[in-house]
Amino acid sequence: MNETALFELKANLKDLKLSAMSRELDTSLRQAKDNGMGYEDLLIDLTRLEIASRAANRLKRRIREARFPLLKPLETFDLSAVPELDIRMFRELVTCEYIREHRNVIFLGKSGTGKTHMATALGLEACKNNYRTRFVTCYGLVNELIEAREERDLQRLLKRYSRYDLLILDELGYIPFSKEGAELLFQVLAERYEKGSVMITGNLGFADWTRIFGDQAMTAALLDRLTHKAKIINCKWESYRLKQSLADQQSTKGDE
Ligand code: ADP
Ligand code: MG
Repeated sequence: MNETALFELKANLKDLKLSAMSRELDTSLRQAKDNGMGYEDLLIDLTRLEIASRAANRLKRRIREARFPLLKPLETFDLSAVPELDIRMFRELVTCEYIREHRNVIFLGKSGTGKTHMATALGLEACKNNYRTRFVTCYGLVNELIEAREERDLQRLLKRYSRYDLLILDELGYIPFSKEGAELLFQVLAERYEKGSVMITGNLGFADWTRIFGDQAMTAALLDRLTHKAKIINCKWESYRLKQSLADQQSTKGDE
């Protein structure tokens, strides 16, 4: 191909927003020439590169938008450390079927049992499946809502939170809300009911939720919606950190 034609082709590909094809054109053409590759195979290769590049960019964007505090993928979660976990249910969550079905997931248990880790890993799986995901602590979300209301921007924020396919609310119960905060959080959750999944991690049993939300009737209504067809995972095991520290101590003792 002569220089002028190559130049135009690259410009056209860019114009058509086929930037990976444009970028890879030289290399692919050279390889095709060296290997005696036909037009069809060359085009297949180039279009595959474009598709792969778009998928990678989309995943990066989903992960950035999700704002995970730490990127802890599934592979870093040691299932052998939590033999009490219902592995079948966990594997099912990995498939993201619950997101398609607009079901909720609730992780309950003591601090250190891996709730945030599991929620992050499942959130990353959701991103891989191209679901709009958002990770936020309950405390952070409530503050954001209160601020938005003060700035008369609440409707826009509520709309944004209703559009995620998966909303992960971390650490429910660590800090009680004000009445206003509880009402606003209730609004976010009510808007998502049967329209989008919510994943919650918390250290309190359902019986204690009234303490965080204050109002008994509101808590009952909230629990009713949240738990309807939800997957509930009771993390009854000991803290992973605690188990590790104990194991470390044991091994140092053994060294003495
Ligand atoms: P929680 O949110 O329940 O308080 P975290 O998810 O923050 O607990 O877990 C505490 C620490 O222990 C984190 O560093 C987490 O990555 C690690 N951890 C917990 N469970 C596991 C596990 N099964 N495999 C690997 N790391 C784990
Ligand atoms: Mg946590």
